[in-house]
Amino acid sequence: MLTLDGSFGEGGGQILRTALSLSLITGKAFCVENIRANRSKPGLRKQHATAVRAAARIGSAALEGAREGSCRLVFEPQTLLPGHYRFNIGSAGSTTLILQTILPALLLASGPSTVILEGGTHNPMCPPFGFIKTVFLPLLRRMGAEVEATLEKPGFYPKGGGRILLEVKPIKEFRRLDLQRRGEITRVRARSILSNLPRTIADRELDVCRRELSLGGSDLILEEFESKGPGNVLYIEVESERLTELFVGFGKKGVRAEDVAEGACRLAKDYIASELPVAEYLADQMLLPLALAKGGSFKTGRLSGHASTNIHTIQRFLDVEIHAIEEDRRTTIIVED
Ligand code: AMP
Repeated sequence: MLTLDGSFGEGGGQILRTALSLSLITGKAFCVENIRANRSKPGLRKQHATAVRAAARIGSAALEGAREGSCRLVFEPQTLLPGHYRFNIGSAGSTTLILQTILPALLLASGPSTVILEGGTHNPMCPPFGFIKTVFLPLLRRMGAEVEATLEKPGFYPKGGGRILLEVKPIKEFRRLDLQRRGEITRVRARSILSNLPRTIADRELDVCRRELSLGGSDLILEEFESKGPGNVLYIEVESERLTELFVGFGKKGVRAEDVAEGACRLAKDYIASELPVAEYLADQMLLPLALAKGGSFKTGRLSGHASTNIHTIQRFLDVEIHAIEEDRRTTIIVED
């Protein structure tokens, strides 16, 4: 059994999620201690406990310490079972992080699966649904995955109540992916998403994007949704020849719409100026798919704590080489068998 230290490096939920994904795929049991030791409320929160339960159902795993608050977990998978699943977090915890935990194993299972995930779909500090749909899944499809995610109902933090449908077919061959260059930028769009809040919030955000990014017409989009609570998220989608990146501003009570939009515009402008293909969040999220493909590479900026911690966790489970060559605030990642 592998023993992992949950306080290593970045010390958040990602060590646990990566371990669950790779334990399901390799069949290796693990024990993780000091779970989320570097967070203000350490241990398993509802969202992590649901990820553990979801992984355990899919991998018919034996569990120890899977309850909320637990700082130690033992996970022993048996058989990987594709099928129809429904997992409800029971709070506004992030459904997208659970999606990312179980998706690699479902791609490598022996048959198709459909999964309904209920909880938060647009949460700060997590990939919002649009990031999964517009950035992450298209890259997995380029690697050979047949996967679709549908937002059936948005669930904004803190009320939640959202629902995602995930449909996965077994992957025939995990193909390598190289993102050394992004090519020309082909389109930039701003999308303000709103639920149960005055439209002027979205109008003010889009005005900032018009000014800061010189956008107009059909590149400024307002989308209104029915949902359980109030919510506002601003996406800036930067489409280039090789991939689409997405930058997020999370609307928050007490924060001016202009400030939300200016923050997101700054991230998008920095990305555009950097000429790098992969931005910070995508960098930590692409490591696992590339490791499963046993090959690939990309260029990104400074390596985040999430990315370096993820490299370490992946190499505990898989016999792959992941090189991170850093020079002048730029990093080249090379994954090889
Ligand atoms: P953790 O802090 O360990 O729970 O991990 C958070 C995960 O969410 C990491 O994989 C981040 O890359 C991802 N993430 C956080 N914020 C964003 C964002 N704005 N867009 C996309 N992904 C994000």
